[in-house]
Amino acid sequence: MYCNKCGTEIPDSASFCPTCGFPVKNQTQDTAQAPQTSNGENTLAIVGFILSFFFAIIGLIVSAVALHKAKTVYNGRGKGLAIAGIVIGSIETIVIVLLVLFYVSFFATLFSAIA
Ligand SMILES: [Zn+2]
Repeated sequence: MYCNKCGTEIPDSASFCPTCGFPVKNQTQDTAQAPQTSNGENTLAIVGFILSFFFAIIGLIVSAVALHKAKTVYNGRGKGLAIAGIVIGSIETIVIVLLVLFYVSFFATLFSAIA
C-alpha cells in the first residue's frame, strides 16, 4: 500500500509511514474493504453448483472461486452453495479418477494376459 500523505510505498502491516510518520493503517482498511463488498447475489455460487453436476473439475474450480467471493465480496452469501459445489465436484473428480485407474489397470492386466 501507499502513504496517503507522501505516496511512499509502505508494508501492509505498518501502522505509520516510515518516511513522514503519517498514520496509515485505519484509512487503508476502510478504503480497501468498502469498494469490494456487493449487495448483489453470488451468482457464481449457483453457476458453480450447477456446473459441478456436469463438469466436475470446472464446477469445482468455479465453486472454489465463488466460495472465496462469498467470504470477501458477498458477506457470506452463496457460501453454502459454493461448499456444496466443491463437495460434489470433489466426489465426482475422485470417482472419475478411480474409474480411469480401474479401466487402465483392467486393460493393462488384459493386455499382459494376452501377451
Ligand atoms: Zn508518508
